[in-house]
Amino acid sequence: MKIVMVGSGYVGLVSGACFADFGHEVVCVDKQDSKIAALKRGEIPIFEPGLSELVRSNAAAGRLTFTTDLAGPVSKADAVFIAVGTPSRRGDGFADLSYVYAASREIAQALDGYTVIVTKSTVPVGTGDEVERIVRELRPDAEFAVVSNPEFLREGAAIEDFKRPDRIVIGAEDERARALMAEVYRPLYLNSAPILNTSRRTAELTKYAANAFLATKITFINEMADLCEQVGANVQDVARGMGLDNRIGAKFLHAGPGYGGSCFPKDTLALIKTAQDYGTPARIVETVAAVNDQRKRAMGRKVVAACGGSVRGKTIAVLGLTFKPNTDDMRDAPSIAIVTALQDGGATVRAFDPEGMEQARATLPAGVVYCSDAYECVAGADAAVIVTEWNIFRALDLDRVRQAMAAPVLIDLRNVYRPEQVRAKGFTYLDVGRGSQP
Ligand code: NAD
Repeated sequence: MKIVMVGSGYVGLVSGACFADFGHEVVCVDKQDSKIAALKRGEIPIFEPGLSELVRSNAAAGRLTFTTDLAGPVSKADAVFIAVGTPSRRGDGFADLSYVYAASREIAQALDGYTVIVTKSTVPVGTGDEVERIVRELRPDAEFAVVSNPEFLREGAAIEDFKRPDRIVIGAEDERARALMAEVYRPLYLNSAPILNTSRRTAELTKYAANAFLATKITFINEMADLCEQVGANVQDVARGMGLDNRIGAKFLHAGPGYGGSCFPKDTLALIKTAQDYGTPARIVETVAAVNDQRKRAMGRKVVAACGGSVRGKTIAVLGLTFKPNTDDMRDAPSIAIVTALQDGGATVRAFDPEGMEQARATLPAGVVYCSDAYECVAGADAAVIVTEWNIFRALDLDRVRQAMAAPVLIDLRNVYRPEQVRAKGFTYLDVGRGSQP
């Protein structure tokens, strides 16, 4: 099948490369000349494990190409996926659909023969109807259908998630489009991935409901962690005790500094807005978003408390900046609020991340001292904070860390160490919800 991906970011590039790997003929389109030029040279503009090899092999096989010209490939396509960003709109937090609608208009102009337009971007319920209206208005003659196929991949494990998904959700309003989508995903039937055929609106809402539920799970265990700290209980054991119940499940029950990333913060806000607009407020999700927001700065205060109540004039080392390991994505990372809170308190922040330094420089406030590894980062620091649980921070040489620091204070916001292990090395150690007071 001939497939076009409009938008070659985390989702578009991974989906495009995986579809090519299934044997489809895929063209990845992007507006950013530099991104397409890099891809043509064989350079991958984002960090995602395994993506470089997958892109290279499929490009070499001639199944995966890159261009800034949308019209040519769209005119020949069976399916055109929209995988552009849907960030939070300034002011009200609703999804900014301007990129989706702009892409829809460009696609409309280029349609030639029956084409299925698929929204893979996360879009509020009803967006598919609007895309259909836009295309129909511009091209009353065109033969097309608009389908919703939300993407559930996780950055850091994106290829595995795309190729072995828990489910594929396809929201279509007509049988011809559904049959074409079945053909697009046919290679995955062999892996017996459940395909959920729904209405378009149902598919759109399913994505938001799933993300909001996961955000709720994280926020729930974070609140339990706070309670654990007060009552002297251990949140990891509480989570294990809860998670072994099949009705609950063990995943997304890791206490930490609050959720971040390119999806949960914006998708919870967009769902809240949609629910308000339809007169059925999503009170639980509203609370989750508010609690999570407060938590990120509270983590900054936790560091301040560990430093004796003030960080003025002190140096704090921040280990890990991306919103989770194995990605370079800094969008809405908890590190942003934590670094800001520390700087507001008068601290000098030194920082290191294995893959996120470039994006961090563009995202974090000015004044951060960027370091080339963990040991350089902690040099002379009055406290070190693990914000993102990259593997290399799980196995630090603690003797070397202590010797490099001005004061041996470690705040472990991801609970990667055992308290007794760190304390035995002479550290003052603080974690999240395990009753480890400094
Ligand atoms: P991204 O910002 O990494 O990529 C979007 C790309 O689209 C950019 O490269 C941009 O230049 C390009 N673009 C914008 N308008 C365009 C146009 N008219 N023509 C061609 N290219 C255009 O975003 P992303 O993280 O890939 O997310 C895309 C969508 O997928 C969002 O709706 C997001 O919520 C959703 N999603 C993301 C993830 C994730 O983990 N990142 C997971 C599931 C769903």
